[in-house]
Amino acid sequence: MSLTLRSLSATEILDSRGRPTLAVTAVTATGAVARAGVPSGASTGSREAVELRDGDPARYGGLGVQRAVANVKGEIAEALLGRSIANQEALDGLLVDLDGTADKSRLGANALVGVSMAAARAFAASNDIDLWRSLIPEGVEPRLPVPHFNVVNGGVHAPNELDFQEFMLAPLGAPTLAEAVRAGAEVYVALRRLLAERGEQTGLGDEGGFAPQISRPEDVLELLVAAIEAAGYVPGHEGIALAMDPASSEFYREGAYHVAGERLSSDEMIERYAEMAERYPIWLLEDGLAESDWEGWRRLTSRLGERLELVGDDIFCTNPAILADAIATKVANASLIKLNQIGTVTETLEAMRLCREAGWSQFVSHRSGETEDAFIADLAVGTGCGRIKSGAPARGERVAKYNRLVEIEIATRLAYGRV
Ligand code: PGA
Ligand code: ZN
Repeated sequence: MSLTLRSLSATEILDSRGRPTLAVTAVTATGAVARAGVPSGASTGSREAVELRDGDPARYGGLGVQRAVANVKGEIAEALLGRSIANQEALDGLLVDLDGTADKSRLGANALVGVSMAAARAFAASNDIDLWRSLIPEGVEPRLPVPHFNVVNGGVHAPNELDFQEFMLAPLGAPTLAEAVRAGAEVYVALRRLLAERGEQTGLGDEGGFAPQISRPEDVLELLVAAIEAAGYVPGHEGIALAMDPASSEFYREGAYHVAGERLSSDEMIERYAEMAERYPIWLLEDGLAESDWEGWRRLTSRLGERLELVGDDIFCTNPAILADAIATKVANASLIKLNQIGTVTETLEAMRLCREAGWSQFVSHRSGETEDAFIADLAVGTGCGRIKSGAPARGERVAKYNRLVEIEIATRLAYGRV
């Protein structure tokens, strides 16, 4: 009885980019109240589950989510009220069946994921345990993940000339999560000072990183190494390593990668990454090649898979079916994990399980459009995956996740670091 859903509601709220998204509230029969905020991406994979937007040009330029809100309060509530939330898999299965489409476009993946997250949180709340504890898969040790701070923004996340979307600091060598957060924040401040000294702009992109007018990725990497040193840290795997998400599908056109005025084939792009990995302490590369360039990905993995985590984002879309194919054909060695790309908590955990069993890393991620919801912090801890990215160590919607991790560390003293 206590684990049955008494009410389910949703409202249209703003995300960090000032666009509408959903907040979903679930209440159990015993009065446990849980809320979830739905994130939203800008550089999306073509096979992501579909966000339902109103398309009414008179409101928010067509981006309103009133239809998704109505679906939560209407059809979804009707199907779920009075049902138990004790079995997340069964509940999510019901949501998927109710929607009835392969891409969740009828009721909206934004509606579905909000309900799924709120239900997961309501379950934890009614059992009086932290969310991360109720997300631990069988046989997995929970741990605190290495935060990846996105401190330079480009691509579709910033109005600058930088083609690569994200440059991240990964404090692999930090002794604790709190020290990793301090390292990220101190380098962020040092980087702002360096940029200002060089006459560069210190304005920010969508994920809170700086958006200077620099076009060559190597120049950014150079700057990051200088900022790490200026803050008194050691660049490298023992100190602070670097990670990049070029989000290359965005600059892949007519079979070529267009970077800082150059036109590169897949193989030239791979060699460019190999040179960067030689010269700079890069340890992880996400979406180095485009989502349609599976052959290139395979060559990238055989060329650099021993030395880099090669993470697929747009190419896999947290989709278990796509990942099963990718794992079988050795297309990468890691996957990004975004709840709203697939649309339910259960399918997200399934994608992570497939990766784990194949020896692939899982990199839990926020979206460029975020809310203050820190669900992904708990997801990363519970699944023990060892890696998370949530943007810069600045701006409320980004630091909500890092602060939640610190809170978990203080309460639990779980181990920190990659696995
Ligand atoms: P998005 O970007 O949320 O805009 O898709 C994040 C990413 O590409 O990892
Ligand atoms: Zn990405």
